[in-house]
Amino acid sequence: MLELPIVEAKEERRKKPEWLRVKLPIGPQFKKVRSLVDEYNLHTICQSGSCPNMGECWGAGTATFMILGNTCTRSCSFCAVKTGRPPEYDEDEPRRVAEAIALMGVKHAVITSVNRDERQDRGSEIWYQTVKLVKEQTPHVTIETLIPDVRATWEALERMISAGQEVVSHNMETVEELYRKVRPQARYARSLEQIQRTKTYGKRTKSGIMVGLGETIDQVYKTMDDLVAHGCDVLTIGQYLQPTKMHLDVAEYIHPDVFKMYEEIGLQKGFDMVESGPLVRSSYHAEKHVFPSTP
Ligand code: SF4
Repeated sequence: MLELPIVEAKEERRKKPEWLRVKLPIGPQFKKVRSLVDEYNLHTICQSGSCPNMGECWGAGTATFMILGNTCTRSCSFCAVKTGRPPEYDEDEPRRVAEAIALMGVKHAVITSVNRDERQDRGSEIWYQTVKLVKEQTPHVTIETLIPDVRATWEALERMISAGQEVVSHNMETVEELYRKVRPQARYARSLEQIQRTKTYGKRTKSGIMVGLGETIDQVYKTMDDLVAHGCDVLTIGQYLQPTKMHLDVAEYIHPDVFKMYEEIGLQKGFDMVESGPLVRSSYHAEKHVFPSTP
């Protein structure tokens, strides 16, 4: 086999491979979602996070709304959402989200938010009102809430997850060894505890990690073990993509076979479901994660 010099081999691993090519955003459903987002003055993580799946998800008439504004108090080095001091609460946002979800006509909705560390309640009141209104207006719609790190403010966690949502996710994002580089204001053990506490409320729990940031396979397995030990039911694993040149470099494009292996190992380790693939994001195909898999 031809051996490449180390620098070239590194470059080779960083070239964007063909399996990351995505569909162009087109079609009437895409336009409908875009006009709802604009008309209701909402934010989506699909746009703010430069998600590669917008063509597919919006084309199928779905999107992930991002509440509590579009300015985050954190500055994670992988994330494209802007950092700064967010404005005051937008008290009308829950109503607009609930109406937009009703008009989208979906069976399942995913809602996420920025971090609001400057607020004592961590944004939990707006979270509660949003989920409550969606449930009132569209009781048949199942809801996944992808919540931020509440910094161990456990009363905020309780409020955030008590409005009737079916699934509560909190993303670990990466392995413990890369936390300082990738997620400097978060703590690995604290995020695990948040998931464990969520489980005690009887919620279906979910978490996600990105790979290709320089982690080892053993570190991924250790993260899986930790998540299972803390009561996590569903795991998503996807390729990290650099949103802009200002963000962390991709260390490696992980081959689809490795994603497949992660899926198999994750199921063996005890997750009920594992969604693993280069383009997987935590809200990708989320409707499949609402109920436990039946053997
Ligand atoms: S995977 Fe999630 S964030 Fe990406 S486009 Fe689909 S719904 Fe939006």
